[in-house]
Amino acid sequence: MKQLTVLTAAAVIALGAAGMGSSPADAQEQFVVIGTGGVTGVYYPTGGAIQRLVNANRAEHGIRVSVESTGGSIFNLNALANGEMDMGVVQSDWQFHSFNGSHENFPEANPELRAVFSIHGEPFTVVARADSGIETFEDLVGKRVNIGNPGSGARGTMEVLMEAYGWTVDDFAQTSELATAEQSQALCDNNVDVIVFTVGHPSGTIQEATTSCESHIIPVEGDIVSELIEENPFYAYSTIPGGMYANNPDDIVTFGVKATFVTTTALSDEAVSTIVASVFDNFEDFKRLHPAYQTLTPEDMATTGMSAPVHDGAMQYYCEAGLRTDC
Ligand code: GLU
Repeated sequence: MKQLTVLTAAAVIALGAAGMGSSPADAQEQFVVIGTGGVTGVYYPTGGAIQRLVNANRAEHGIRVSVESTGGSIFNLNALANGEMDMGVVQSDWQFHSFNGSHENFPEANPELRAVFSIHGEPFTVVARADSGIETFEDLVGKRVNIGNPGSGARGTMEVLMEAYGWTVDDFAQTSELATAEQSQALCDNNVDVIVFTVGHPSGTIQEATTSCESHIIPVEGDIVSELIEENPFYAYSTIPGGMYANNPDDIVTFGVKATFVTTTALSDEAVSTIVASVFDNFEDFKRLHPAYQTLTPEDMATTGMSAPVHDGAMQYYCEAGLRTDC
């Protein structure tokens, strides 16, 4: 596990000065790396929000968070399993599959995976060019579709959906694997007809896709989707509010998951409870850091969207704060 404990130059000097005591927090910093997603998504600013709140008091607790932009949920969960990262933002569906080893993306279970808290909802969001003729999800057949980059949770969820509809990539005229930060421009440059993204709202990517050219958010509902929701505890119907994006005045029904914050047993209880406290003790500040957090409550974040066991350090905080009763 990449958890460096280093002596800063200043601390070395302080320690070297005989008789001049320095607290352990001055002397050592524990680095905690958070894996997020593309810079135009919501995961990246979410990592940034956590980083800001934790690092504000790093002189007291000695933890310094840094944030990495990554390919998304599946990349983050693999990096956690391999000990290459300490924490990550991931979709609740892939949290489930990584812990249980219950999907081909995660042939091996990671029993060390731990949930920390859940964050915003992530509706599966399909945006089509207005001139593409796409009105429903079924209309994707025969079109040029960006199915997302490998390693993203969105790509994984798109594949689940394609399987449920009985489609392969051959059912589309063309598929591309562009990442979060590239796909809106590809849509507006008319290189693809439609993009898909599992993301909180509002998000930079969807804002770009709906303001740089004429495009519509497409509903994803019906018997096949209802069946997926019935069979899987981590899916639920979800609505993208009308008026949130330019040229998209109506509420759009789709299905979605939750963004969740996870780690492994390799990160100490002390570090996890410090990081959780930095967010929950400053909850109103946290909520102000992204508009997708508008409806979050501490109770909800401490109890929902978790299919891996809750990390002991997080549980400690929730029990002391009265946010959970299963203590
Ligand atoms: N849910 C997306 C994924 O796992 C990332 C969303 C975001 O970056 O906000 O790939």
